[in-house]
Amino acid sequence: MNELVRLLSNFIRTVAIRLPDDVLTALKELSLRERSYWGKAVYSLMFDNIKLALEKGVPVCQDTGVLMFFIDAGTNFSYINMLPEAVRAATLKATEDVPLRPNVVEPFDERNTGNNIGTRLPWIEWNIIPNADYAEITLYLAGGGTSLTGNAKVLPPASGFKGVIEFVLDVVSSYGLNACPPFLLGVGIGTTVETAAILSKKALLRPIGSTNHNPKAALLEKIIYEKVCGLEIGPQGLGGSTTVLGVNVEYSARHPATLAVGVSTGCWAHRRGVIRIKSDLAYELPFYKGEVL
Ligand code: SF4
Repeated sequence: MNELVRLLSNFIRTVAIRLPDDVLTALKELSLRERSYWGKAVYSLMFDNIKLALEKGVPVCQDTGVLMFFIDAGTNFSYINMLPEAVRAATLKATEDVPLRPNVVEPFDERNTGNNIGTRLPWIEWNIIPNADYAEITLYLAGGGTSLTGNAKVLPPASGFKGVIEFVLDVVSSYGLNACPPFLLGVGIGTTVETAAILSKKALLRPIGSTNHNPKAALLEKIIYEKVCGLEIGPQGLGGSTTVLGVNVEYSARHPATLAVGVSTGCWAHRRGVIRIKSDLAYELPFYKGEVL
């Protein structure tokens, strides 16, 4: 248990301090394409920020967010029964050690718990994998500004994809600024408001640059990407030619009478990490080349 908690708290530290490789690559590509003076200046500040965070071992953004874990747990993973407690203990430890900003407020007390633990937080979404002997844990640090953009709605199916695109653009043009652009845009499509919302969040967990396996969903990603770029919100909302790190669409089949759409954003400091842990506690960090926990 101690070793599992140590691994997980160091993993949380890495996610808070170091941007994932795919996010860094995408930011570098966007910075080369940006044409506006202020946009270029913002990228320059971002890269200074990223470098200093690594050098000093401090979080890349002061808002270290609320911790959300998405756990694919193999039923034969030796530590499966310990995972909920280990995640909680690692959150407490990382909050003190890194440190992470205490961000958890109990809504009916208006009181910050001070340790990033609260009712149903850290959030854990479970997915059970029969007969596998590993756990793949994705951590997303959900910052306040980037979470403020979130929205979901159930449309009548007659709205079609035109209605989906209009809703996404309406949300992004109203609140996208809060998500510290260039942001990653996640769009979920399903039956109900909560399934569309969670799919939009899961869309943010996909590697940047990946496309949906369904060519029609991939086309929707491309169309939304081009339309959002056309808004010219620019880095940090100061105007410019680069606004999005990417657009990821995830979907489920839907009820014939509904077309639900969810929107989530991940900011430029898109802190999403993955650790795959085997039963002997050997681990892989697919988004952090060379990192040792
Ligand atoms: S939106 Fe992201 S980069 Fe901006 S303050 Fe929030 S966590 Fe930090």
